[in-house]
Amino acid sequence: MRRLCAGSAMTSGLRRLALACAALLLPHAACAADALEARIDRLLRDGFDHPAAAIAQLRQLRAATPPGAAARLLLQTEGLIQAQAGREAEAHALADELREMSRDGALPLAAADASLVRAVAAQTAGQLAVAATHAESAAAIYQPGCSRTADGTLPAQTCDYRALWRALQLLERRAMSLGRFPLAQQHAQTALDLADAAGDIARKALSLGSLAFIAANAGQHEDAQRSVAQAKRMAAQVGDAALMARAKSYEALVADLRGDADAGLRATEEAYELARQAGARRLQAQLLVNLSDSYVRRHRPADALRAANEALPTVREFNDRRTERTLVNNAGLAKIGLRRIAEGRKDMARVLEFEVRSGAQAEQATTLREFGQALAAVGEMRDALELYHRERALSAQLMQRNQDLALKEMQARYDAEAEQRRIELVRSDNALKTAALANRDLTQRIWLVLAALMTLSVVFAVLLVRRVRETHRRLEASHALLRVASERDALTDLANRRHFHAVMQATAGDGKRGFAGSLLLVDIDHFKHINDGHGHAAGDVVLIEVARRLNAAVRDEDLVVRWGGEEFLIVAEALGTEQADQLAARVLASIGSTPVLVENQALWVTASIGYASFPLPPHRVALQWEQAVNLADMALYTAKSQGRNRAVGLVSASASDAQSLRAIEGDFERAWHEGRVTLRQTPGPGAPDATA
Ligand code: GH3
Ligand code: MG
Ligand code: MG
Repeated sequence: MRRLCAGSAMTSGLRRLALACAALLLPHAACAADALEARIDRLLRDGFDHPAAAIAQLRQLRAATPPGAAARLLLQTEGLIQAQAGREAEAHALADELREMSRDGALPLAAADASLVRAVAAQTAGQLAVAATHAESAAAIYQPGCSRTADGTLPAQTCDYRALWRALQLLERRAMSLGRFPLAQQHAQTALDLADAAGDIARKALSLGSLAFIAANAGQHEDAQRSVAQAKRMAAQVGDAALMARAKSYEALVADLRGDADAGLRATEEAYELARQAGARRLQAQLLVNLSDSYVRRHRPADALRAANEALPTVREFNDRRTERTLVNNAGLAKIGLRRIAEGRKDMARVLEFEVRSGAQAEQATTLREFGQALAAVGEMRDALELYHRERALSAQLMQRNQDLALKEMQARYDAEAEQRRIELVRSDNALKTAALANRDLTQRIWLVLAALMTLSVVFAVLLVRRVRETHRRLEASHALLRVASERDALTDLANRRHFHAVMQATAGDGKRGFAGSLLLVDIDHFKHINDGHGHAAGDVVLIEVARRLNAAVRDEDLVVRWGGEEFLIVAEALGTEQADQLAARVLASIGSTPVLVENQALWVTASIGYASFPLPPHRVALQWEQAVNLADMALYTAKSQGRNRAVGLVSASASDAQSLRAIEGDFERAWHEGRVTLRQTPGPGAPDATA
């Protein structure tokens, strides 16, 4: 299921700008430039839904406009509208014309316009990578003209903030499609600052929507909700139904990412209604895409397919291949849900092929997951499993790349700061030299000056060392943060194996004393049935809830690790036998006595536990943690084979050295039957009692 991101077109309530001038009773001439820009901006907005009418008006204006900045803006706007409407040939012709216009050097921004038009054309054609390359060239030209003046405003003469805002938005979309949330956030924030400096509330609302969407994707749901509320407030302030519809569709996206499907659907329906009122038929079509998405998710495939089919003609008319692809994706999933499996598969294959070709890996991973889930839901298990493996491999690859990139970015930032400091030093050095030269003839004062120079250089050196140290400290803090993030499991937010290893390494000492403490290996029973019967997403919900319950059941000082898929390891200080039994019983009860709620359905979940406290009585042989985990695993295996939903504790082992312990590990069951190990069984909630 895939949704469209709102706000891909410009929207603005720039009527207000002209009104503001009138209200302030400024002389008409002072507002003339603003009024024209505002009018053009409105045409750009309207051109998203009704390109032909907007272009006709632009051409009329152009006929009455002498060559110069205003003519350039009109040409740029027509280019953008053509590009948005998917008329690639027309858009590129206008880009060429803009390029030509920039040749004599009088209108340097026209070169940026050419790139921006090409970028938007590529975006409409679904080629985000190409779009980003053009957008980057455009932004590089627009940016210098938009540095703030002393009073924090934008220089009206040199800054085309609307165009720069659009370029930044494209860059942000590209970063999102690569799953690079921090970079996307940076672009959206820059765009927001720009709109803020320009006093452009409509664009501010859209940038806030983007920021909310990014935050929600990064799991920062509170930030996301805050930004979306702000976006809605601003849209209301502008009083434009289409803008409000976009803000609402961000609200829907954020709600969905938070897992609140009801709120998501409600917001989308409201957005659709607003778009209808505004006569924004293209936006309406995009919202239908999102509605089809919500219906697929709520297992209403017939409604989903109806919405998708209703949107398709408009989307095709605009040659909007990205949206069309989203639509085909949703239609495919709906068809699979309606058991028109062959047709659905064909749709999904088309979507995947396109994503592979355009290198949109994050989207491809989503498609694989959704495709797999849809097939699993109709019982096509083998193919679903294959898709699951493909998705996992791709996601792992993406995650690794994100980590590498984050490190690289940090290094680059550090290098830039170091270079900046070097320049500052050279500059101050030069200043000192100039001062020395000017005082050359005053021999009497030379020594004084030299002394001053020496003191200054010492001060500079001290400052420099301090700054370098500070940067190092910050860099180290960032590294530490990154390390913490890489030691957490993304789904459950528990510590992962890497963290456990780090803890073991830190506490190992000289390694002679061996592992001391209690280990409980917890494995959810028949978890595969949950995945198979209710879908992988439901499985994920169960994992998250079990993780939460485990955390609540252990003491503050204990560590809960996600050991593997549905397997968890609890590491506790060495507990007395009774305390360890109690902890195991508590964990069984916390998992098994209340059902897990998944989409309003109560799922009963139980787990099996293998546990032991080390060193093992009575001989207390020192052993490494790997061996300790192995023994807990043996106990877990016994718990499974005894019928599940129980804990099996390894109470003692008659082994006086590592060798005989290893023999026990080698054939645990026999050792148990021969009485070389003593086990204690604790039944889980509702299980028949048993004693070992
Ligand atoms: P048993 O009672 O013997 O433990 O059976 P089981 O089905 O729980 O165990 P098995 O190891 O056969 O299956 C574990 C399943 O967990 C297989 C895998 O697809 C699924 N799994 C692993 N990681 C995840 C995950 O992150 N999310 C979801 N939803 N499923 C996962
Ligand atoms: Mg299991
Ligand atoms: Mg398992």
